[in-house]
Parts: sequence; structure tokens; C-alpha cells
Amino acid sequence: MTKGRATVLIEPNRLETWQVPVADPQPGGVLVQIVLGGVCGSDAHIASGGVGRMPFPIILGHEGIGRIEKLGAGVTTDYASVPVKVGDLISWSPIALCHRCYSCTVLDETPCENSQFFEHADRPNWASYSDFATLPPGMAFYRLPSHANPEAVAALGCALPTVLRGFDQCGPVGRGDTVVIQGAGPVGLAATVVAAISGAHEIIVIDRVQRRLDAARSLGATATISMTGTTSEDRVAQVWDRVGPQGPSVVVEAAGALPAFPEGVNLTGHHGRYIVLGLWGEIGTQPISPRDLTIKNMQIAGATFPKPKHYYGAVHLATRLQDRYPLAQLITHRFSVEDAPKALQALGSDTVIKAVIDPTL
Ligand SMILES: [Zn+2]
Ligand SMILES: [Zn+2]
Repeated sequence: MTKGRATVLIEPNRLETWQVPVADPQPGGVLVQIVLGGVCGSDAHIASGGVGRMPFPIILGHEGIGRIEKLGAGVTTDYASVPVKVGDLISWSPIALCHRCYSCTVLDETPCENSQFFEHADRPNWASYSDFATLPPGMAFYRLPSHANPEAVAALGCALPTVLRGFDQCGPVGRGDTVVIQGAGPVGLAATVVAAISGAHEIIVIDRVQRRLDAARSLGATATISMTGTTSEDRVAQVWDRVGPQGPSVVVEAAGALPAFPEGVNLTGHHGRYIVLGLWGEIGTQPISPRDLTIKNMQIAGATFPKPKHYYGAVHLATRLQDRYPLAQLITHRFSVEDAPKALQALGSDTVIKAVIDPTL
């Protein structure tokens, strides 16, 4: 039986490269060779154990682009009815849904009661820090358009579906909106480009790292504010000075740091919306003045676990924008499967915008 490399998280802070069997797909499933596996900030939280116990040992990686190696019996199309064949590039929604529970069939919401984010490392696995991935029947996957640049799709990884999900939840950005984005990692950059194509008047991006702020400019930010040398009060004052007395109409939390939350509440304008997307891996509390919500008539919403339609939308949106915006150039670092621990370390450095696992290395 063929084997492939996979980065296995045995327990928190213990990663090993395993040779795992490459299983034939089940009827309805697909076997792919991984082309790129995105390294997501959540992976670092999962690897450190910061988000609780996982069903160890697990293979890391939930942002996969792969080339179809084998189709399971009965598979002739992707989950958008597009014909597929061996050799096609696909990406998939990595949250296995049961399609037979209240969330799945009545609410049409994710995650569902029986959803599964990870499979045991000994079993056929859809994780993407690996040479191969086996998608089980029922796991939605989508063919990349033939002209798609896989790097452009991989660059915004799970960030773009997350942002599309967030704007579904909290209402879209429209013409005339004034948008503030806290954090210029992949989620903040995805929010920037979505706001830019939606016709927002202002897109102000806040981050600590100049390289990321420059990337935000390249994706349509109209202004950037560095956290270096500014206080929270300074930033709120700068934003309100720029957008006027109503304040920003949409604020997106993509910072992944708890203190961003009270600052985001202060940033949000009258009748504004505050969308919290980045705190999945940050467990804790923060003080706010609840009266501010009332006085400003503002909304706060959170969103996580994009639906299959958001993954589909992200593949097509990234492909449409790949020549208009420098998406592929957001990938600044590449690591082999064996070097996954270095990839996770690199997430904390100021030079990384997006890192990927590249199994050809
Ligand atoms: Zn992710
Ligand atoms: Zn379900």
C-alpha cells in the first residue's frame, strides 16, 4: 500500500511526521494529492492545546487544495454539480457535516450537532498537512475553475470563507459603508478585499506590522493605522476623526487578541455593526460598557465554521480577483510537511503574511 507523509499532533506541543497509509476513497469519496495546505492561525492554537482537547492523535491542516488522484464509486461531479475527473484541482469544506440533524436540515446552520473537524490520524484523513487527503462521502468539495491560480485561492485559505460567513451573519458591506478592520492577518486582509469590491467609502485597517498594513493597502484599504506608538484611545480618535461624527458603520474584529474587543466596541459608530471573527482561539473575558450598545443602537455578531457555500463562494471570488489584486503574493513562506513545526513558529513572526505547507518540498 502507498504511504504518504502527514504532520501528526500527538498531544499539545508534540508534533511528529508519520508515514500514513493512503487509502482508496469510499464510494462517494475522493482521494487527492495535496498541492498546498494553508497554515492558519487556528492551527497554532490547536497545536498548543489552547482551544481544549482534540481527539488526539490528529493530522493538522484544514485549508487544502488538492489534485484528484482517485474518485470513489459514483462520483462524477463536485458538490456544485460540476463534472470532475482525475487530475482536477479541488478544495473542500473541512468540517464534516452529518446532513441529518436539526442544525443541518432545519436551521441550515453550521457547525452541526455531529460535525467533525478532525479525524483520528490512524484513519483515512481529510487534513492537509500531508501528501494525500481522503475526503469521505458527504464532505463538500469544489473544483477550482480551470484558470484559477491555486496560490491565490490558498492565500486567503479559510479566512475568505470565514469573512463571507461573517457578512452573511451580520449583513453585507454596501456602497457608502465606512469599514474598520482590526488586524491585517489573512482574515483582516480577506475582509479588506471584500469591503473594497463592495464599494465601501472607507476601509481603515489597524495592525502592528507594517508589512501587513502594506498588504492591506494593496487589497484596497484607504487608510492604515499602526498599533506601534498609538494607544487604543488614539486609534479610536483617529478613526472617528477620519469618518466623521457618525463613526464607522462596520467594524470587523480579525485581530485574534482579546483587547481588540473593547476597542472594537468603541470604534463602532452609531447604528453600526461589529463582527467578531478572530477570537476563536482566544478564550477569556473583556470589560465593555453595555450601555454603549444601547446608546449607539449598535449590533454585535460573531460567526464561525463557514458553510459549504462559503467555501464555494471563496474559490470563485479568489479566482475572479486573482488578477486584480496581488492575492498569490500574500504567500510569503512555504514549508515541507516535515517542517510543519517551523511553519507554526513562523506564524508568530512579523515577516509572515501567509504560510503554506508545500508537499513538493
Ligand atoms: Zn483556519
Ligand atoms: Zn448535522
